[in-house]
Amino acid sequence: MRRRLLRQIYPTYLLIILVSLFIVSWCALRCMEALHRSQLERDLLSQARLLERTLHTGESSLLSPERIAQLCREFSQLLPIRITVLLENGRVIGDSDANPALMENHRNRPEVRAAAEGAPKAVERYSSTIRQRLLYMAVPVNVNGQTEMFVRVAMPLDEIDQAMRSIIHRVTIAGLIVALLAGCFAFWVARHVTQPLKQIREGALRFAHGDLSYKLPVTGSEEMAALSAAMNQMATQMDDRIKQLLTERNTRVGVFESMTEGLLAVDKSRIVVELNRAAGTLLGIDIEKTKGQPLETRVRNTELHRLLATAIDSDTPVEGEIQLNGETSRILNVRGSALCNPDGDHIGALAVMQDITRVRQLEQMRQDFVANVSHELKTPITSIKGFVETLQDGADADPKARSRFLGIIAKQAEHLNAIVADLLMLSSVEHQTRQHLVSLEPLPLRPVLESAVEVCNVQATAKQIPVTITCPDNLKALISPHLLEQAVTNLVDNALKYSDPGALVNVTASTEGPNVIIDVQDTGRGIEHRHLDRLFERFYRVDKGRSRQLGGTGLGLSIVKHIALAHGGRITVESTLGEGSTFRLHLQNAL
Ligand code: ADP
Repeated sequence: MRRRLLRQIYPTYLLIILVSLFIVSWCALRCMEALHRSQLERDLLSQARLLERTLHTGESSLLSPERIAQLCREFSQLLPIRITVLLENGRVIGDSDANPALMENHRNRPEVRAAAEGAPKAVERYSSTIRQRLLYMAVPVNVNGQTEMFVRVAMPLDEIDQAMRSIIHRVTIAGLIVALLAGCFAFWVARHVTQPLKQIREGALRFAHGDLSYKLPVTGSEEMAALSAAMNQMATQMDDRIKQLLTERNTRVGVFESMTEGLLAVDKSRIVVELNRAAGTLLGIDIEKTKGQPLETRVRNTELHRLLATAIDSDTPVEGEIQLNGETSRILNVRGSALCNPDGDHIGALAVMQDITRVRQLEQMRQDFVANVSHELKTPITSIKGFVETLQDGADADPKARSRFLGIIAKQAEHLNAIVADLLMLSSVEHQTRQHLVSLEPLPLRPVLESAVEVCNVQATAKQIPVTITCPDNLKALISPHLLEQAVTNLVDNALKYSDPGALVNVTASTEGPNVIIDVQDTGRGIEHRHLDRLFERFYRVDKGRSRQLGGTGLGLSIVKHIALAHGGRITVESTLGEGSTFRLHLQNAL
């Protein structure tokens, strides 16, 4: 368990202050005591010397022992000291506090010996005579250079001790007050030091919780202010860096997710590490459920697994096509390459997948179209070639045969011409639609319908099929008149072609909401339901032989479909076998 900084700093401060205070006080007291003691010793020496002077009566005589004993008593009344006078042999002849007769020989007292040796010194000792601790000082009393007596003065040490105790008492109280004040000051200083640290700690916690816009107050000491400023700067830089990283990440995710190509990353064990939305859609899997799962459990396609396994171990990209047979069958082009760590070790594989179903379909359509066109062209060409060869081989000589063969050749040539014309028409409409070259004008529909019917008039008359038009004169639409006439002509031509004499053909134009509807209805043979979906494909015919016989190219309805698309509309059909058909052009923008 860590202790708070305040609890670490404060007791240390306090201890230092108290120890310092104690040492200083102790030294001061010791000095004072020593000073007091030396002052006392000097006083005792002066007093002893003064008394020594008073014992002399002249140059060579001293006071009588009785007088000395009396003086001792008298002086002790005046001075707060004990006075003892003893002869050189140590016998006490006068004492201020005791009866000299009862006192023992004092010659061996240390202070007396010191005085006898000519070096008076103060001696502290317990007096058994007056039962007190005293400070003694003795000086010799000399007569004609000869020591006759000793004057000894003594002062009770109790008074000094009492004075010292009083000083210690006052110093202790002062020390305690100073210690208290110092303690408070130390606490204030410690708090002053730790408070900014607390603020910095709280700020750092806010930074750690992501609040990088928070600013630490730049206050306190120079060091703390510098630390706060440095932390603020660090937070700002971190904030900027995080924002930059987020932007970069979002851009990367945006790019990753917006890619139309599917991206799929797996590790070495083919666990899915990452995949984008396009990959999820292409493979028909849930992104979140797939991440972290073995690919085999989510996508059952051995080709894909084989390709990824190869890519993981390969130094060069591998490419292949896979067929997915889900709800909708798809063909994907997959390019796999090894994923490497910064050391260049292979850690997985990345597959880039592209849906090429449409490309393959278009390729197939193109191939089918080329095959169909070739086939359609081949039939009349073979026929023409055959009859020309027959004529060259001698049939030319027979006028009847020649005339018949030339007739067939002309018919086949006409059929060839019709196929080429329809192909050119189809290609032209497609081109105009793709390049947005079809210019639509707001025009009345009736004249267009009348022209189309007019074109088919000869055929209608020949088959005795009346063609009627129902169209309001004021009905207008955004149309390309030339293209629309071609479409209606094809529909009316078919209606006449696939109806027997006596049938009826009706061309009706009307509005349906914002759209214009043009119906070409016949009471002809009708079409079996199973053919209806494919009717608008190029070269699709219900009955090939019959269509060819009737001069059909199999492109008429395909042209109609593309013209409808060029108008932003569409074509639909309803038909009942034996009852007739209705082809409906849905055009936008009725006016
Ligand atoms: P074609 O040149 O053979 O008429 P189309 O594309 O115009 O080619 O028509 C495709 C096929 O649709 C025709 O071969 C025919 O079998 C059928 N069809 C088109 N219109 C009608 C119709 N009004 N009644 C019955 N069958 C039709």
